[in-house]
Parts: sequence; C-alpha cells; structure tokens
Amino acid sequence: MDFAWSDQQRELLDAVGRFASQQLNYNMIENDRDGVFNHDAWKKCGAFGIQGLLVPAEYGGLGMDPLTTVAALERLGYGCKDNGLVFSINAHMWTAITPLVYSGSKAQKKKYLPGLCDGTLIGGNAMSEPNSGSDAFSLATTAIKQGSKYVLNGSKIFVSNGPVADLLVVFATVDKARGPNGISAFLVEKDSPGMNVARKLEKMGLRTSPMAEIFFENCEVPEENLLGKEGSGTSQFTWAMTWERGCILASAVGSMQRLLERCIRYAKERKQFGQPIGKFQLVASKIVDMKLRVESARHMLYHCAYLRGQGKSAYLEAAMTKLHISDCWIKSCEDAIQIHGGYGYMTEYELERELRDAIGSKLYSGTSEMQRNIIASLLLAQRLRRPNR
Ligand SMILES: Cc1cc2nc3c(=O)[nH]c(=O)nc-3n(C[C@H](O)[C@H](O)[C@H](O)COP(=O)(O)OP(=O)(O)OC[C@H]3O[C@@H](n4cnc5c(N)ncnc54)[C@H](O)[C@@H]3O)c2cc1C
Repeated sequence: MDFAWSDQQRELLDAVGRFASQQLNYNMIENDRDGVFNHDAWKKCGAFGIQGLLVPAEYGGLGMDPLTTVAALERLGYGCKDNGLVFSINAHMWTAITPLVYSGSKAQKKKYLPGLCDGTLIGGNAMSEPNSGSDAFSLATTAIKQGSKYVLNGSKIFVSNGPVADLLVVFATVDKARGPNGISAFLVEKDSPGMNVARKLEKMGLRTSPMAEIFFENCEVPEENLLGKEGSGTSQFTWAMTWERGCILASAVGSMQRLLERCIRYAKERKQFGQPIGKFQLVASKIVDMKLRVESARHMLYHCAYLRGQGKSAYLEAAMTKLHISDCWIKSCEDAIQIHGGYGYMTEYELERELRDAIGSKLYSGTSEMQRNIIASLLLAQRLRRPNR
C-alpha cells in the first residue's frame, strides 16, 4: 500500500479543505435547530466537484480513484462542521451515484450523472420499509410490468434526501415468490405520478440532512428506468452497500481530527487548580485515546479504499471499517464534550451537535450489529490456520 500523495492529489486535498472551512460553515446552529437543508452549500459543493469525485470525467465527474475520493471526503468532514450536509452528500454519492455508475446504461448515465455531479440534481436511495430494515431483502414494495412501464406499490421509510431528492434509486420486487432474486432497482424521478413524499421525518441528529417517508401508489416508472437487469437488485444493493460501508464515514475521520485538534487547544488553554487541564493525566489520556482512534480509523478507511481501487471486493474490510469508525466517532465526541466540561454540553460550543450527528452512524448503512454479523460469518467461514511452530 502506498498512501504517499502526488502533487496533484495534495493540491486537490488542500483545496477541498480550504473550500470546506471557508465556504460551508454558516447558520450552523440555526439550521440544526430548524432542520434546514443548506441548498446553497450543496450547489457550491457540486460546482467544486465534490459530488462527482468518483464519477468518470465523460459523465461530468472528476474521475478520481477511491483512495483520493475518501481522502477528499475526509478533508470535507474536517473543514465543514455541517455533518448533515456532509451526510446528504455521502448518501447521494454512495447510494445513488455509485449504483448508477456501475449498473446504469449509457443512456441513463448520460441523462442523470452530469446533474448529479454538478449540484443541479439531488439523489437518494429507498430500500428500508416499515417492516424490513436490517432484513432488507424481505421488502414488500412491488413492481409489476404493464406494457412499457413498471407500476410500483408500497411504502419506504428513512429515505435520506427524500424531501429534496430529484432522483431516487428505489428497490421493489417484480415477483415476491422469487425472494431476493425478484428484487429490482428503479430510477424514480421526483413528481412521478403516484409517488408521494408523505412526511418529513424529525430526528435526533444530522438534522440538516432531510429525511422522508415515501408512498408509491400505482406509481408508473418507464421501463428504461429499470437499473441493470430485472432481478439484479439484490446483487446491486449488496455491491453498493460494500462501497457505502467502506467509504461513507470518510468525513467522520475528518470530523474526529477536527475534534482532536480543538481538544488539544482547549486542554492547553483552560486552567483549573492553577494549571492547564491537559496536565491532568485523566484529561491527557482522553486526548491520547482520541488520537489513537483517528489514526486507526484513517488507516482502515484508506486500506479499504485502496483495496476497492485494486478491484478487490473488500467485503470484510468494509464492514470492519464501518463498525470501527462509527464506534470511534461517537467515543471521540463524548470525550470532546467531557474535556470541555459544562461548556461542552452547551449548544453554542457545537460539540453536543457532533455527538447527536455521530450516533446515527451506528444505524445507517447497516447497524453495528449487522456489521458484526457480516464480520463473524466471514471469519467463521474461513478455515482456521494453525500458527507455524
Ligand atoms: C440517519 C439514517 C439515515 C438512513 N438513510 C436511509 C436511506 O437513505 N435509505 C434507506 O433505505 N434506509 C435508510 N436508513 C435506514 C437504515 O438503513 C435502517 O434504520 C437500518 O438498516 C436498521 O433497520 P431498522 O431501523 O428497521 O432496525 P431493525 O432492523 O428493526 O433493527 C432493530 C435492532 O435489532 C438489531 N437486529 C436486527 N436484526 C439483527 C440480527 N440479525 N442480528 C443482530 N441484531 C439484529 C439491529 O441491529 C437493531 O439494533 C437510515 C437510517 C438512519 C438512522
């Protein structure tokens, strides 16, 4: 593995960091309180090229490799304190753009990718349903072929970007009797007749990333909007989830680095008992833990992205990366609050928001329990090697 950046990569990463810290941090507290999505910042990110980092240049992207992409998203998370906006961008990239890049027809890519890259269009993914969350492939939404259209019926929940999305990747079954082999993915445009963005969901954190419950009632989708082949939805979803698990928390690593630097500054400045609180071993030890977490998280992230770039499946590494970074992010947010004492608990210090934002990472893209199930099943399926004597 070689993580040494070329001059060109370094320029890009520095530019992302500067852009994020200078142009995306405003109305943070108000937007979190009121649950406001920052449309203007979204467009700026599109114009910069963030949403299209991984997309080939012929479709309007920057055509970066996975390692450069996650490093750029890390810088985004370091510079931008609006975790909701950053989450919306990540959901858009990993759950809408990536499936389109890898499973879309030429015509579909030409039609949608340039807008999804430049910030004109917002994408999302509708898999979860009221009765199928972790057990995603037991979904009940149906897609029945009628002439040159599919007719969708069912309901979807927890759709990130749902209230503002222009295009959703929707999973539905063409034949329930075929189980996972009947699941297909469809590109559904906003305002499709029969699609109803029923209600915006209020949530604990990531409040600037809008989320909706969506109903499909005889929603007509043209057959050319079937993504990949009929019945290929399960393999598409599994494949896209591996990308998502491995990469969606890249920005969390940047957030952890930002928290660490802030805590170091505070531990040097804040005095109690006549000395900086960083002199107390119990405080210093928290900073050490924060440093270990950010380094190990970054290493796992880069390793996973490197493997993806080499064309490896990285199924195990992606699950481990997601599990580890989410855990580290939450613990580092708690430590940051503790180091700041009562001030850390106050909204104006913007640390309690980080913790609320971080907690969702143990739930989306597969819960931590599901990541453990994947890791355990892969490890236990391997034959144990005897150590050499
Ligand atoms: C911020 C956020 C954004 C999201 N965005 C999207 C989105 O854009 N699109 C989308 O489709 N969905 C989205 N989701 C939904 C997310 O994928 C689901 O919440 C998640 O898959 C869990 O499903 P569930 O909530 O129904 O919980 P359940 O599956 O009902 O799980 C409840 C509890 O049981 C545990 N559990 C379940 N099965 C097992 C098992 N086999 N072994 C051990 N423990 C188990 C779970 O880990 C959990 O602790 C989002 C969720 C959040 C919080």
